[in-house]
Amino acid sequence: MQVADCVFCKIALREIPSEIVYEDDEVIAFKDNQPLAPVHLLIIPKNHLRSLNDVTPEYETLIGHLFGVIQRLVEELGVAESGYRVVTNTGADGGQVVGHLHFHLLGGQALNAKIG
Ligand code: 5GP
Ligand code: ZN
Repeated sequence: MQVADCVFCKIALREIPSEIVYEDDEVIAFKDNQPLAPVHLLIIPKNHLRSLNDVTPEYETLIGHLFGVIQRLVEELGVAESGYRVVTNTGADGGQVVGHLHFHLLGGQALNAKIG
C-alpha cells in the first residue's frame, strides 16, 4: 500500500525519479540523493511502513527477504568483504526524516562515528 505525500512511495511508483539499483514485488533499492559514502543505498519495502515500530510479526518474512536483498547488493557492489553498515533511523531521536521504513546501506570507505 502506498501513501500520498510519501517521497519513498512516490519513488516506488516512479512518480519521483531516482537511481533504482534493484526491484522486485516487495522491495526496491535506490541511491540516496545525498550520499554520505561511495556506496549509499536506501532499501525499502514497497509497502508503506512508517518505521521499524510498524514491523509486526506479519512482516517478518518481508524483512528477512529485504536483508537477503541487502546481502545480494553488497556482493554485487563488492563491499561484502571490505565491510559496510546498515542503519535504520527511527523517530525523532533516531534522526528519521522520511517516514517510510528504510535501511541505509553505507560502504566503499572506512566509516567513522560508530554510534551517537
Ligand atoms: P533518514 O534521516 O530519514 O534516515 O534518511 C532519509 C534519507 O533519504 C536521507 O539520506 C536523504 O538523503 C534521502 N532522501 C530524501 N529524499 C530523497 C529523494 O527524493 N531521493 C533520494 N534518492 N533520496 C532521498
Ligand atoms: Zn511511503
